[in-house]
Amino acid sequence: MLDNLPSLSETVRIHGLAANKKLGQHFLLDMNITDKIARLALPLDNVSVAEIGPGPGGLTRSLINAGAKSVLAIEMDERFLPALDDISRASGNRLSVHHGDALKVNISEKLEGEIKIIANLPYNVGTKMLINWLTADPHFWTQAVLMFQKEVAERLVAGPGDPAYGRLAVLAQSVCDCKMAFDVPARCFSPPPKVDSAVVVLDPLPEDQRFKDLKLLGELTQAAFGQRRKMLRKSLKPFAKKHGLVLEDWLENSGVEPTQRPEEITPLQFHSLSENFL
Ligand code: SAM
Repeated sequence: MLDNLPSLSETVRIHGLAANKKLGQHFLLDMNITDKIARLALPLDNVSVAEIGPGPGGLTRSLINAGAKSVLAIEMDERFLPALDDISRASGNRLSVHHGDALKVNISEKLEGEIKIIANLPYNVGTKMLINWLTADPHFWTQAVLMFQKEVAERLVAGPGDPAYGRLAVLAQSVCDCKMAFDVPARCFSPPPKVDSAVVVLDPLPEDQRFKDLKLLGELTQAAFGQRRKMLRKSLKPFAKKHGLVLEDWLENSGVEPTQRPEEITPLQFHSLSENFL
């Protein structure tokens, strides 16, 4: 269907799409990789996809080719709009493009039915966008397949005891099952960024297993991981005082040893701590 379009490299050349580093622009022009990302989200035939930062449209083409019912591509840089319009026409209008800052777009208002978020995210705002989607109320998406710089991807999937384990892992794993899919070395991008990337698949937990009070959880994990090396009996003292809790009783009731450090505490234990307000 999209076979008549110029290749991605041609598209970049024809439209003079030099990368703008300020907008985190590093393009994937190898469609073997973008096809592999799209395949992680199959089946897509009944799905409305939100793609953030399509750039010249490599992943966008792969999503259309993979059979997505529709794709909403949100792109801040207007230079890409003509190339994206070409894809839209060739796809029989299954692609619509929103020109603007994805941080300001309410995806759930723009799409109907089952929604998946699939993107090679701009590094500078990727984590912020993810936190917005994780904490969205009501939760509006059924899967997210996202490329981040590798260090962020590792922080999402890390478990207790892992050096990358911290606030982001606890938040993400309180809402989703998070899996590392595959690495994408820096040399696969044009221009290559300084660091490697990785694709993560986030599958929301069943509604009744999803932890709800994410604001309180955020406050708790900030108190705990803000002093990562300290034992919880020390780092959580101000938090306990603020909330009128007897520190030792609260920790014991939540199944947490006062001498433990935050990196040893599982997401479930953090949930107990958030719930066991005596
Ligand atoms: N998806 C393309 C690819 O894989 O080749 C481009 C990925 S590039 C890492 C990130 C893209 O996000 C760029 O096209 C950039 O212009 C866009 N972008 C950056 N900040 C954005 C924002 N706040 N909202 C929407 N798009 C943004």
